[in-house]
Amino acid sequence: MKFKKIIYARKFDGNPKVSDFEVVEYHVADDLKDDEFLYEALYISCDPYLRLLAHTYVVGETSIPGYQLSKVTKSNNRKYPVGSILVLNVGWRSGGISNGSDVLYIRNDLPSNVPLSAGMGIFGMTGLTGYYGVDRVLRPKSGDTLLVSGAAGAIGSVVGQIGKILGCRCIGSCGSEEKIKFVKSIGYDDAFNYKTESVTEALQRLAPEGVDCYFDNVGGDFASQVLSHMKKRGRVAVCGAVSSYNATEPARALIMQPMMFLKSIVMEGFNIFDDIPPHADEMYAVLRKWAEEGKLKQYEYVTEGIESLPSTFIGMLQGKNLGKTVVKI
Ligand code: NAP
Repeated sequence: MKFKKIIYARKFDGNPKVSDFEVVEYHVADDLKDDEFLYEALYISCDPYLRLLAHTYVVGETSIPGYQLSKVTKSNNRKYPVGSILVLNVGWRSGGISNGSDVLYIRNDLPSNVPLSAGMGIFGMTGLTGYYGVDRVLRPKSGDTLLVSGAAGAIGSVVGQIGKILGCRCIGSCGSEEKIKFVKSIGYDDAFNYKTESVTEALQRLAPEGVDCYFDNVGGDFASQVLSHMKKRGRVAVCGAVSSYNATEPARALIMQPMMFLKSIVMEGFNIFDDIPPHADEMYAVLRKWAEEGKLKQYEYVTEGIESLPSTFIGMLQGKNLGKTVVKI
Protein backbone atom coordinates (compact mmCIF):
# COMPACT_ATOMS: atom_id res chain seq x y z
CA MET A 1 0.00 0.00 0.00
CA LYS A 2 1.11 3.55 -0.73
CA PHE A 3 1.23 6.21 2.01
CA LYS A 4 2.74 9.67 2.48
CA LYS A 5 4.80 11.17 5.28
CA ILE A 6 6.40 14.55 5.94
CA ILE A 7 10.11 14.84 6.53
CA TYR A 8 12.34 17.60 7.90
CA ALA A 9 14.00 18.77 4.68
CA ARG A 10 15.72 22.05 5.66
CA LYS A 11 16.85 23.49 9.00
CA PHE A 12 14.32 25.87 10.56
CA ASP A 13 15.55 29.42 10.98
CA GLY A 14 13.06 31.22 13.24
CA ASN A 15 9.56 30.76 11.83
CA PRO A 16 9.44 27.50 9.84
CA LYS A 17 8.72 27.78 6.10
CA VAL A 18 6.74 25.38 3.92
CA SER A 19 9.95 24.71 1.96
CA ASP A 20 11.56 23.33 5.16
CA PHE A 21 9.33 20.26 4.79
CA GLU A 22 9.04 17.61 2.10
CA VAL A 23 6.23 15.14 1.34
CA VAL A 24 7.61 11.65 0.71
CA GLU A 25 5.73 8.58 -0.55
CA TYR A 26 6.42 5.15 0.92
CA HIS A 27 5.11 1.64 0.46
CA VAL A 28 3.92 -0.76 3.13
CA ALA A 29 3.40 -4.46 2.45
CA ASP A 30 0.03 -5.44 3.90
CA ASP A 31 0.99 -9.00 4.94
CA LEU A 32 0.89 -8.68 8.69
CA LYS A 33 2.93 -10.59 11.28
CA ASP A 34 1.39 -11.78 14.55
CA ASP A 35 0.21 -8.83 16.69
CA GLU A 36 0.54 -6.34 13.85
CA PHE A 37 -2.21 -4.13 12.44
CA LEU A 38 -2.53 -1.78 9.51
CA TYR A 39 -3.77 1.73 10.31
CA GLU A 40 -4.87 4.70 8.25
CA ALA A 41 -4.71 8.25 9.58
CA LEU A 42 -7.99 10.12 10.02
CA TYR A 43 -6.68 13.30 11.68
CA ILE A 44 -3.13 14.46 12.38
CA SER A 45 -2.37 16.85 15.22
CA CYS A 46 -0.35 20.07 14.81
CA ASP A 47 1.38 20.83 18.11
CA PRO A 48 3.78 23.59 19.17
CA TYR A 49 6.16 21.10 20.88
CA LEU A 50 7.13 19.84 17.40
CA ARG A 51 8.86 23.20 16.87
CA LEU A 52 10.48 23.00 20.32
CA LEU A 53 11.95 19.56 19.48
CA ALA A 54 13.33 20.66 16.09
CA HIS A 55 16.92 20.84 17.40
CA THR A 56 16.79 17.02 17.66
CA TYR A 57 15.70 16.52 14.00
CA VAL A 58 18.18 15.42 11.33
CA VAL A 59 17.86 17.33 8.06
CA GLY A 60 16.75 15.07 5.21
CA GLU A 61 16.09 12.14 7.54
CA THR A 62 13.71 12.83 10.42
CA SER A 63 10.03 12.15 9.80
CA ILE A 64 8.12 14.82 11.69
CA PRO A 65 6.89 13.17 14.92
CA GLY A 66 3.49 13.69 16.53
CA TYR A 67 0.08 12.27 17.27
CA GLN A 68 -2.71 11.12 15.01
CA LEU A 69 -6.17 9.63 15.28
CA SER A 70 -6.24 6.49 13.15
CA LYS A 71 -8.52 3.68 12.14
CA VAL A 72 -7.39 0.05 12.09
CA THR A 73 -8.12 -1.35 8.60
CA LYS A 74 -6.55 -4.83 8.88
CA SER A 75 -5.46 -6.62 12.03
CA ASN A 76 -3.63 -9.59 13.49
CA ASN A 77 -3.85 -8.05 16.94
CA ARG A 78 -6.79 -9.05 19.12
CA LYS A 79 -6.52 -5.93 21.27
CA TYR A 80 -6.93 -3.66 18.21
CA PRO A 81 -9.44 -5.27 15.81
CA VAL A 82 -10.49 -3.78 12.46
CA GLY A 83 -12.44 -0.56 13.02
CA SER A 84 -10.59 0.39 16.24
CA ILE A 85 -10.10 4.15 16.66
CA LEU A 86 -6.69 4.84 18.20
CA VAL A 87 -4.47 7.74 19.13
CA LEU A 88 -1.04 6.74 17.82
CA ASN A 89 2.36 8.32 18.32
CA VAL A 90 3.60 7.66 14.77
CA GLY A 91 4.22 11.15 13.41
CA TRP A 92 3.03 12.95 10.32
CA ARG A 93 2.24 9.96 8.07
CA SER A 94 -0.97 8.82 6.40
CA GLY A 95 -0.75 5.18 7.47
CA GLY A 96 1.39 2.17 8.24
CA ILE A 97 1.85 -0.96 10.31
CA SER A 98 2.13 -1.04 14.09
CA ASN A 99 2.56 -3.83 16.61
CA GLY A 100 0.71 -1.81 19.24
CA SER A 101 3.74 -0.15 20.83
CA ASP A 102 2.68 3.22 19.29
CA VAL A 103 -0.83 3.16 20.78
CA LEU A 104 -1.46 5.88 23.35
CA TYR A 105 -5.22 5.78 23.76
CA ILE A 106 -8.11 3.66 22.49
CA ARG A 107 -11.01 5.92 21.55
CA ASN A 108 -13.75 3.51 20.38
CA ASP A 109 -16.33 4.92 22.78
CA LEU A 110 -16.49 8.63 21.99
CA PRO A 111 -19.76 10.32 23.00
CA SER A 112 -22.17 10.79 20.09
CA ASN A 113 -22.35 14.58 20.54
CA VAL A 114 -18.68 15.31 19.66
CA PRO A 115 -16.80 15.14 16.33
CA LEU A 116 -14.48 12.17 15.80
CA SER A 117 -11.47 14.50 15.95
CA ALA A 118 -12.26 15.08 19.64
CA GLY A 119 -10.50 11.74 20.19
CA MET A 120 -7.32 13.70 19.70
CA GLY A 121 -8.56 17.03 21.09
CA ILE A 122 -10.59 17.24 24.28
CA PHE A 123 -10.15 13.47 24.78
CA GLY A 124 -6.51 13.29 23.68
CA MET A 125 -3.29 15.00 24.68
CA THR A 126 -4.99 18.42 24.68
CA GLY A 127 -7.85 17.63 27.03
CA LEU A 128 -5.78 15.48 29.35
CA THR A 129 -3.04 18.12 29.62
CA GLY A 130 -5.53 20.91 30.27
CA TYR A 131 -7.44 18.90 32.85
CA TYR A 132 -4.29 17.73 34.64
CA GLY A 133 -2.91 21.28 34.80
CA VAL A 134 -6.09 22.75 36.26
CA ASP A 135 -7.31 19.95 38.50
CA ARG A 136 -4.08 18.35 39.70
CA VAL A 137 -1.61 21.25 39.61
CA LEU A 138 -3.60 24.45 40.22
CA ARG A 139 -6.38 22.82 42.30
CA PRO A 140 -8.59 25.94 42.21
CA LYS A 141 -11.32 26.59 44.74
CA SER A 142 -14.70 27.76 43.53
CA GLY A 143 -14.55 31.54 43.11
CA ASP A 144 -10.80 31.64 42.37
CA THR A 145 -9.59 33.86 39.55
CA LEU A 146 -7.87 31.73 36.91
CA LEU A 147 -5.72 33.45 34.28
CA VAL A 148 -4.96 31.45 31.11
CA SER A 149 -2.48 32.56 28.44
CA GLY A 150 -2.90 31.21 24.92
CA ALA A 151 -6.59 31.16 25.84
CA ALA A 152 -7.92 30.78 22.29
CA GLY A 153 -5.71 27.80 21.43
CA ALA A 154 -6.14 24.07 21.85
CA ILE A 155 -5.16 23.83 25.51
CA GLY A 156 -6.47 27.30 26.37
CA SER A 157 -9.96 26.57 25.02
CA VAL A 158 -10.14 23.42 27.17
CA VAL A 159 -8.69 25.06 30.29
CA GLY A 160 -11.22 27.92 30.21
CA GLN A 161 -14.12 25.49 29.96
CA ILE A 162 -12.78 23.32 32.79
CA GLY A 163 -12.11 26.40 34.91
CA LYS A 164 -15.76 27.43 34.51
CA ILE A 165 -16.99 23.89 35.36
CA LEU A 166 -14.92 24.08 38.58
CA GLY A 167 -16.43 27.47 39.48
CA CYS A 168 -13.53 29.80 38.64
CA ARG A 169 -13.64 33.28 37.23
CA CYS A 170 -11.67 32.80 33.99
CA ILE A 171 -9.60 35.49 32.31
CA GLY A 172 -7.84 34.73 29.03
CA SER A 173 -5.04 36.39 27.13
CA CYS A 174 -4.76 35.97 23.37
CA GLY A 175 -3.46 37.68 20.24
CA SER A 176 -6.40 39.38 18.52
CA GLU A 177 -9.81 41.01 18.97
CA GLU A 178 -11.39 38.07 17.08
CA LYS A 179 -9.85 35.72 19.65
CA ILE A 180 -11.21 37.81 22.55
CA LYS A 181 -14.72 37.37 21.09
CA PHE A 182 -14.09 33.66 20.61
CA VAL A 183 -12.88 32.98 24.16
CA LYS A 184 -15.79 34.93 25.65
CA SER A 185 -18.18 32.90 23.47
CA ILE A 186 -16.85 29.64 24.93
CA GLY A 187 -17.26 30.74 28.54
CA TYR A 188 -14.32 32.96 29.60
CA ASP A 189 -15.56 35.81 31.78
CA ASP A 190 -13.07 38.26 30.30
CA ALA A 191 -10.08 38.42 27.98
CA PHE A 192 -7.40 40.79 26.72
CA ASN A 193 -5.15 41.11 23.69
CA TYR A 194 -1.54 40.80 24.88
CA LYS A 195 -0.37 42.48 21.66
CA THR A 196 -2.20 45.74 22.37
CA GLU A 197 -2.38 45.87 26.18
CA SER A 198 0.36 45.17 28.73
CA VAL A 199 -0.09 42.46 31.35
CA THR A 200 -0.08 45.14 34.06
CA GLU A 201 -2.73 47.34 32.42
CA ALA A 202 -4.92 44.34 31.65
CA LEU A 203 -4.72 42.72 35.09
CA GLN A 204 -5.17 46.02 36.94
CA ARG A 205 -8.35 46.39 34.90
CA LEU A 206 -9.62 42.79 34.96
CA ALA A 207 -8.25 41.36 38.22
CA PRO A 208 -7.51 44.30 40.57
CA GLU A 209 -7.64 41.96 43.57
CA GLY A 210 -5.09 39.63 42.03
CA VAL A 211 -4.95 36.26 40.33
CA ASP A 212 -5.18 33.01 42.33
CA CYS A 213 -4.13 30.60 39.58
CA TYR A 214 -2.18 31.09 36.38
CA PHE A 215 -2.16 28.43 33.62
CA ASP A 216 0.93 29.31 31.60
CA ASN A 217 1.02 28.32 27.92
CA VAL A 218 3.36 31.07 26.71
CA GLY A 219 6.20 31.55 29.26
CA GLY A 220 8.76 34.33 28.71
CA ASP A 221 8.32 37.87 29.97
CA PHE A 222 4.52 37.57 29.94
CA ALA A 223 4.71 34.87 32.61
CA SER A 224 7.21 36.84 34.70
CA GLN A 225 4.95 39.93 34.59
CA VAL A 226 1.94 37.91 35.73
CA LEU A 227 3.63 37.07 39.05
CA SER A 228 3.38 40.72 40.17
CA HIS A 229 -0.41 40.41 39.86
CA MET A 230 -0.84 37.19 41.78
CA LYS A 231 -2.29 36.86 45.23
CA LYS A 232 -0.24 35.52 48.14
CA ARG A 233 0.22 31.75 47.80
CA GLY A 234 -0.91 31.91 44.16
CA ARG A 235 -0.29 28.81 42.04
CA VAL A 236 1.23 28.63 38.55
CA ALA A 237 0.91 25.60 36.25
CA VAL A 238 3.74 25.68 33.71
CA CYS A 239 2.37 23.94 30.63
CA GLY A 240 4.39 25.52 27.81
CA ALA A 241 6.45 28.45 26.57
CA VAL A 242 5.26 28.95 23.00
CA SER A 243 6.44 32.59 22.98
CA SER A 244 10.02 31.30 22.72
CA TYR A 245 9.77 28.34 20.31
CA ASN A 246 10.51 30.31 17.13
CA ALA A 247 13.01 32.67 18.77
CA THR A 248 16.43 33.01 17.17
CA GLU A 249 17.90 34.97 20.12
CA PRO A 250 17.84 33.94 23.81
CA ALA A 251 14.68 35.40 25.35
CA ARG A 252 14.87 38.14 28.00
CA ALA A 253 12.44 38.14 30.89
CA LEU A 254 12.02 39.86 34.25
CA ILE A 255 13.65 37.88 37.08
CA MET A 256 10.72 36.12 38.74
CA GLN A 257 12.24 34.80 41.99
CA PRO A 258 11.64 37.95 44.14
CA MET A 259 7.90 37.82 43.41
CA MET A 260 7.88 34.08 44.06
CA PHE A 261 9.38 34.27 47.53
CA LEU A 262 7.72 37.55 48.53
CA LYS A 263 4.29 36.15 47.65
CA SER A 264 5.02 32.48 48.48
CA ILE A 265 3.96 31.52 44.96
CA VAL A 266 4.04 27.84 43.99
CA MET A 267 5.05 27.05 40.41
CA GLU A 268 4.87 23.53 39.01
CA GLY A 269 5.72 22.17 35.58
CA PHE A 270 4.14 19.04 34.16
CA ASN A 271 4.03 17.20 30.87
CA ILE A 272 1.92 14.72 28.96
CA PHE A 273 4.73 12.18 28.64
CA ASP A 274 5.70 11.68 32.31
CA ASP A 275 2.91 12.97 34.52
CA ILE A 276 -0.33 12.15 32.77
CA PRO A 277 -0.21 8.44 31.71
CA PRO A 278 -1.00 7.01 35.20
CA HIS A 279 -4.10 9.25 35.40
CA ALA A 280 -5.20 9.15 31.74
CA ASP A 281 -8.10 6.65 32.02
CA GLU A 282 -9.60 8.19 35.12
CA MET A 283 -9.32 11.72 33.64
CA TYR A 284 -10.80 10.58 30.31
CA ALA A 285 -13.87 9.28 32.18
CA VAL A 286 -14.43 12.73 33.73
CA LEU A 287 -13.87 14.61 30.45
CA ARG A 288 -16.22 12.19 28.67
CA LYS A 289 -18.96 12.76 31.26
CA TRP A 290 -18.62 16.55 30.96
CA ALA A 291 -18.85 16.29 27.17
CA GLU A 292 -21.93 14.07 27.37
CA GLU A 293 -23.53 16.63 29.67
CA GLY A 294 -22.74 19.34 27.10
CA LYS A 295 -20.37 21.18 29.47
CA LEU A 296 -17.18 20.51 27.49
CA LYS A 297 -16.94 21.08 23.75
CA GLN A 298 -14.31 20.53 21.10
CA TYR A 299 -13.33 23.78 19.34
CA GLU A 300 -11.05 23.20 16.39
CA TYR A 301 -9.30 24.61 13.37
CA VAL A 302 -9.37 21.94 10.65
CA THR A 303 -7.57 21.88 7.31
CA GLU A 304 -7.51 19.01 4.81
CA GLY A 305 -4.90 16.81 3.20
CA ILE A 306 -1.50 15.60 4.39
CA GLU A 307 0.22 18.13 2.09
CA SER A 308 -1.33 20.96 4.13
CA LEU A 309 0.38 19.87 7.39
CA PRO A 310 3.40 22.21 7.05
CA SER A 311 1.35 25.34 6.25
CA THR A 312 -1.20 24.48 8.95
CA PHE A 313 1.58 23.99 11.52
CA ILE A 314 3.21 27.29 10.56
CA GLY A 315 -0.17 29.05 10.71
CA MET A 316 -0.85 27.61 14.18
CA LEU A 317 2.49 28.89 15.50
CA GLN A 318 1.57 32.32 14.09
CA GLY A 319 -1.81 32.26 15.80
CA LYS A 320 -4.16 31.45 12.91
CA ASN A 321 -6.08 28.82 14.88
CA LEU A 322 -9.11 29.04 17.14
CA GLY A 323 -9.04 25.90 19.31
CA LYS A 324 -7.26 22.65 18.47
CA THR A 325 -5.36 22.51 15.16
CA VAL A 326 -5.88 19.27 13.22
CA VAL A 327 -5.47 18.16 9.63
CA LYS A 328 -8.11 15.81 8.21
CA ILE A 329 -6.45 13.15 6.07
P1 NAP B 1 -2.24 26.56 20.57
O1 NAP B 1 -2.41 27.48 21.73
O2 NAP B 1 -3.44 25.97 19.97
O3 NAP B 1 -1.43 27.29 19.39
C1 NAP B 1 -0.33 28.06 19.63
C2 NAP B 1 -0.73 29.50 19.96
O4 NAP B 1 0.39 30.17 20.49
C3 NAP B 1 -1.11 30.35 18.75
O5 NAP B 1 -2.44 30.16 18.36
C4 NAP B 1 -0.81 31.76 19.23
O6 NAP B 1 -1.99 32.37 19.72
C5 NAP B 1 0.14 31.53 20.42
N1 NAP B 1 1.42 32.24 20.24
C6 NAP B 1 2.27 32.18 19.20
N2 NAP B 1 3.34 32.97 19.43
C7 NAP B 1 3.12 33.57 20.62
C8 NAP B 1 3.84 34.51 21.40
N3 NAP B 1 5.02 35.03 20.99
N4 NAP B 1 3.33 34.90 22.59
C9 NAP B 1 2.15 34.40 23.03
N5 NAP B 1 1.41 33.51 22.33
C10 NAP B 1 1.91 33.10 21.15
O7 NAP B 1 -1.24 25.41 21.01
P2 NAP B 1 -1.52 24.29 22.12
O8 NAP B 1 -1.35 22.98 21.48
O9 NAP B 1 -2.76 24.61 22.85
O10 NAP B 1 -0.28 24.51 23.10
C11 NAP B 1 -0.29 25.58 24.03
C12 NAP B 1 0.95 25.46 24.92
O11 NAP B 1 0.85 24.25 25.66
C13 NAP B 1 2.26 25.38 24.15
O12 NAP B 1 3.23 26.10 24.86
C14 NAP B 1 2.58 23.91 24.14
O13 NAP B 1 3.95 23.64 24.01
C15 NAP B 1 2.05 23.52 25.51
N6 NAP B 1 1.72 22.10 25.67
C16 NAP B 1 2.31 21.47 26.71
C17 NAP B 1 2.01 20.16 26.96
C18 NAP B 1 2.63 19.51 28.14
O14 NAP B 1 2.65 18.27 28.21
N7 NAP B 1 3.12 20.28 29.10
C19 NAP B 1 1.12 19.45 26.13
C20 NAP B 1 0.54 20.15 25.07
C21 NAP B 1 0.84 21.49 24.84
P3 NAP B 1 -2.16 33.98 19.82
O15 NAP B 1 -2.82 34.40 18.54
O16 NAP B 1 -3.01 34.14 21.01
O17 NAP B 1 -0.79 34.56 19.95
